[in-house]
Amino acid sequence: MALIVQKYGGTSVGSVERIHRVAERVVQARQAGHDLVVVLSAMSGETDRLVRLAHEVTPCPDEREMDMLLSTGERVAIALLAMDLRGRGINARSFTGRQVGIITDSSHTKARIARVTAERIREALAGGIIPIVAGFQGINERSDVTTLGRGGSDLTAVAVAAALKADRCIIYTDVDGVYTADPNIVPSARRLDKVSYEEMLELASLGAKILQSRSVEFAARHGVPVEVRSSFKEGQGTLVTTEDMDMERVVVSGVTGDRHQAKITIIGVPDRPGIAARIFGPVAEANIIVDMIIQNVSQAELTDISFTVPRVDLGKAVTLVQRVAKEIEAKSVGVTDAIAKVSLVGVGMRSHSGVAARMFAVLSREGVNIMMISTSEIKISCVIDEKYLELAMRALHAAFGLDEASGREE
Ligand code: ADP
Ligand code: ASP
Ligand code: MG
Repeated sequence: MALIVQKYGGTSVGSVERIHRVAERVVQARQAGHDLVVVLSAMSGETDRLVRLAHEVTPCPDEREMDMLLSTGERVAIALLAMDLRGRGINARSFTGRQVGIITDSSHTKARIARVTAERIREALAGGIIPIVAGFQGINERSDVTTLGRGGSDLTAVAVAAALKADRCIIYTDVDGVYTADPNIVPSARRLDKVSYEEMLELASLGAKILQSRSVEFAARHGVPVEVRSSFKEGQGTLVTTEDMDMERVVVSGVTGDRHQAKITIIGVPDRPGIAARIFGPVAEANIIVDMIIQNVSQAELTDISFTVPRVDLGKAVTLVQRVAKEIEAKSVGVTDAIAKVSLVGVGMRSHSGVAARMFAVLSREGVNIMMISTSEIKISCVIDEKYLELAMRALHAAFGLDEASGREE
């Protein structure tokens, strides 16, 4: 008998009909003799609705109150599923993040998990009860509600699986696994049977929202075997696991696109030691993650610095940067959010050269201008004009032999 954590995403619990389908799956797994813990997201669209509501009330909602609001979506879903199961004579109980002891820091809206006590879950399992746990939420040391960042129910599932030393954590979603690119953007994308934690972490951080990147980081750190499957159809999914020889033979395993970044450019920055620290210090203190940075060669002791930040943090970042720009007597600050990042990911890049040059050639053939470039051992990213993102993804997917019809390039 295995202990399995099942997580169902928003689309999978998006209607009463779909909640019934999840209940049926839970019953099936139980009949197969497994011990089960179920983690749920809010019904699809609900978290977005609550975010919009908050912004209708005030342009810059307080982050503690935002968490209080957003955490309600998951509570609705868990109560409905628990009712459904109980109506079928199955002993299930819903629990909030607080009740199962998901203790986080106090970074509201993107809190990090400090520990998971899981006492109520263990108690429930021992009593033959199926715990239905609210994803995406925890509490800080003062018992204030926190949330774990968008897509954070994946992290709840992985963290609960790690705390319970579960045999598997299955992420049920609206596609049947991890693909070589988002199948909704690149129709010729193929499902991967296996993907390494490291590749999955890059894919997720670079825009593949199939798994929240922090959940992958957590799974890798605690060695939690994660499987991504469809909640709508039976069949094989994708196993996220440790790297093996097969994976290394493939140069590029996936293409991603990310529209969630924005670019800030400071023009006419005095080229002196200490200036970069003056600019990026306050941004880091405000908990804003800077992704790419480019500094031009200086002319007449002045230079331009461009960098990217998450679009959601753009307002906060611009206010800080404008203040510093004034203090250091830079000429001006420019902002654009019409950018996107296209990336290639693959552990095989470690042992293959020329991938970057080929990527640039493909983009140039499509007439796509590259604004920024960044590379690591297993990925290459280019910032481009947002309107070319889908074109760039499809062209790269085909050029690197990932399309369904083409044989995989080795
Ligand atoms: P859930 O609500 O179940 O958490 P998400 O919407 O967060 O589901 O994630 C599933 C979606 O991720 C898919 O519908 C798909 O459009 C998108 N996606 C992006 N990149 C990939 C990829 N490489 N493989 C599979 N799906 C991807
Ligand atoms: N409901 C949250 C969101 O939409 C968490 C999740 O779905 O994983 O981001
Ligand atoms: Mg998700």
